[in-house]
Amino acid sequence: MHELSITQSMLDLVLEHAEKAEAKKVGKINLVIGEMTGVVEQCVQFYFPFLSKGTIVEGAALSCRMVPPKAQCRDCSETFELKEFDWTCPHCRSNTMEIIAGNELFVESIEVE
Ligand SMILES: [Zn+2]
Repeated sequence: MHELSITQSMLDLVLEHAEKAEAKKVGKINLVIGEMTGVVEQCVQFYFPFLSKGTIVEGAALSCRMVPPKAQCRDCSETFELKEFDWTCPHCRSNTMEIIAGNELFVESIEVE
């Protein structure tokens, strides 16, 4: 994944919202990252200070909530956390399932001043 461009588009979105809210400063950004996206939180945290420099987002705290992958069994409707290399339903051992969590990547909320 390209954390640089992801961080940039996240920042653009935050700036757009902050401007609409007529904020003077952004204090905190709450980001949600699904583990299946492959986005590494440390990389986002690394790029963030460089990209936000000179904007009202500079100095804001960046909080990332990682979402573990989850699936729902198509046969018995059981929902369960997906483990690597173990794509079977723990309830009925079926292997037809739908991914219901883990692909998220969005800004949950921002705190402005
Ligand atoms: Zn099942």
